[in-house]
Amino acid sequence: MNSYETTVRYFDHAAGLMGLSKNMQRLLLTPEREVKVQIALERDNGEIATFIGYRMQHDSARGPMKGGLRFHPEVDAQEVLALATLMTWKTAIVNIPYGGAKGGISVDVKALSQGELERVTRKFVDEIHDIFGPDKDIPAPDMGTDAQVMAWIMNQYQKFHGFNPACVTGKPVELHGAEGREEATGRGVVTVTEALLKRANHPISDVRVAIQGFGNVGSFAARFLHEKGAKVVAVSDAFGALWNNEGIDIPELVRHVAQHKQVVGFNGADKMPSDELLVSDVDVLIPAAIGGVLTRDNAREVRAKFVVEAANNPTRPDADKIFDQREILVVPDVLANAGGVTVSYFEWVQNRQHFKWELSRVRKELDRIMIDSFDKVWTIATERKVSLRTAAYLLGIGRVGRATVLGGI
Ligand code: GLU
Repeated sequence: MNSYETTVRYFDHAAGLMGLSKNMQRLLLTPEREVKVQIALERDNGEIATFIGYRMQHDSARGPMKGGLRFHPEVDAQEVLALATLMTWKTAIVNIPYGGAKGGISVDVKALSQGELERVTRKFVDEIHDIFGPDKDIPAPDMGTDAQVMAWIMNQYQKFHGFNPACVTGKPVELHGAEGREEATGRGVVTVTEALLKRANHPISDVRVAIQGFGNVGSFAARFLHEKGAKVVAVSDAFGALWNNEGIDIPELVRHVAQHKQVVGFNGADKMPSDELLVSDVDVLIPAAIGGVLTRDNAREVRAKFVVEAANNPTRPDADKIFDQREILVVPDVLANAGGVTVSYFEWVQNRQHFKWELSRVRKELDRIMIDSFDKVWTIATERKVSLRTAAYLLGIGRVGRATVLGGI
């Protein structure tokens, strides 16, 4: 089952419980626009390379569409559409005034020079500048893209439409970006983890955590967990995994990764096989890398009592069912990783008002939104006796459905 089928399955389950008609279900699931473009690049060595770029605009009932741009070799139309659909529910669950979109280019950024990456990004903007913008659809970083890429997007957009920094979020702080945007997804993950543990009467300072992925989201989640006294005993990245039963010194590991670009080789922990991380002896498991890693093949082996989905779509429906049966609590991606898009919203607000917020304000507003959203989802789950995922979908689909009807078909 691929990413798109996974999202549809979760949608169907919640929509069925809500008693939504088949016609309404079809309306809510059908994307508004799917764009696929060619990006031709003359490489530094004079060779020609051709890439395919996508922007999938799923739903705009609640406002301009919002979602990241993923530059990764596994990007394809179905994957991007799945992620765009998730953005629609995600923005609705945290109640920020957006719809959902996602984009990407099927490219291995590690194989591009900085100059090639810039040219690919600018060419992509040349192809799609008419369909995005501050009131239409606002891109942001995702896997394989960062603040520098967003700066190029803003600059290239400006060549067609004039100065308008609100056309993209996740920009560098020095160039109309928001304080706290970079850390936001990881911070939000930890805020909901703490809220969850509170409900379970489990102080965060007592827990042992495994984190799969040490990119932007995984590394910031590790830092905030470490600050709160949790023991991060296992981490991994694409190159390998580490284990330290006493808890890894995260600030030291962050310094190591800044220098060596991978967790492997860090001498404050032992090496362990990467596939063991997901089933290691921990209380909290945080998948913070790619999708589809928790499947029916490993779900029974998972020893954590809590799974917090920092990545998008890490759990396949079969695994989700097993977690439900085993009473493992899963905070779904559409809630757990919504901190990124929430601070993107703050960035957009600041850009439109030409008024800059301090980091303390960003953090305070983010924490409030994450905790309120978690509490709402928790209450629905308790009242309706459903999983946190189903509760989150009930909340998100309900809000999008009502906006659709109120706006008029
Ligand atoms: N790419 C992030 C996500 O999946 C952030 C999107 C945004 O900031 O618009 O939620």
